[in-house]
Amino acid sequence: MLIVMANNATRDQVERVVKVIEEMGYTARPMPGEQRTAIGLVGNDGRVDSSRIEGLSGVAEVIHVTKPYKQVSREWKSENTIVTIAPGVSFGGNEIQIIAGPCSVESEQQIVASALAVRAGGATALRGGAFKPRSSPYSFQGLGKKGLEMLALARRETGLPIVTEALDEEGAHLVAEYGDCIQIGARNMQNYSLLRAVGRMKKPVLLKRGMAATIVDLLMSAEYILAEGNDQVILCERGIRSFDTMARNLFDLTAIPLVQRLSHLPMIADPSHGTGLRDKVTPMGRAAIAAGADGILVEVHPNPDRALSDGGQSLFPDQFARLVQEVRAIASAIGRTVALTPGTAPIQVG
Ligand code: PEP
Ligand code: MN
Repeated sequence: MLIVMANNATRDQVERVVKVIEEMGYTARPMPGEQRTAIGLVGNDGRVDSSRIEGLSGVAEVIHVTKPYKQVSREWKSENTIVTIAPGVSFGGNEIQIIAGPCSVESEQQIVASALAVRAGGATALRGGAFKPRSSPYSFQGLGKKGLEMLALARRETGLPIVTEALDEEGAHLVAEYGDCIQIGARNMQNYSLLRAVGRMKKPVLLKRGMAATIVDLLMSAEYILAEGNDQVILCERGIRSFDTMARNLFDLTAIPLVQRLSHLPMIADPSHGTGLRDKVTPMGRAAIAAGADGILVEVHPNPDRALSDGGQSLFPDQFARLVQEVRAIASAIGRTVALTPGTAPIQVG
């Protein structure tokens, strides 16, 4: 339930509403806006007697949020949420962000070379897994904490913020310490204890769609994070399983405008896992931007043939640079811009 205050409501009136909500046994979440303050009532609000709140002075309107993903929905908050992972790197505004890097962190040399290459190509954030969720327990599992240290080194060398995956709560604390954005992968999208744990942290979260998850499932998972108090959540389409084995996944582009209509959270797309095929990454990366994605996440490796994971879907650095060029053209055709690489001053003309 959402209590919208009149635009001339006083602070005392807002505090009174908060108090009444708490007396009723719910949590109140005041959300000051440019025009007026709204107060969210958090909890199972099915049986709330709204007349008690409607009668309080300063209350303009009580809105019953119909969606089960309450705080994630546009009913709760109509304007876009801007998620900032580092100074100048924000998702959900007009600017498009490009997260790029290898699937896994493999060595200091490999991650620094990757970071330099993607920065040169126009990336605005560096990805790379230190904790890898592999289908086989015998496959490369990532370098763990050492990998995070290497990512931190790559950030010092390039200025690119780090997006990296956590598989469990302990790993999430480590990622929060070293990285700038905690990635929750497809396999963990419904790991509710992990979602709650990152919801209690003060770090942005990149939540990827599960491989058999509906769009509502994705939004409900995001709700777990917001319910714990963290609204810095970026959603990501990364393809779903289908009957067709021609591509690794079925890259669901319709999910982008669907989610953006239903939710105020930024929505990006990952054409690398979405297709699993190097030569399909560029066309589908372009398509994701054309469909309105707030960013793309792309796997890029300095030497894909020698990658320890996902080499077959990783772009060569020159392919990545070309993709970014094309994405800039598409962005401008739809009235958006691609963010500048952090630390790059805009070119002064005249
Ligand atoms: C990844 O980003 O490397 C990854 C494992 O992605 P997903 O969780 O989408 O499979
Ligand atoms: Mn991968």
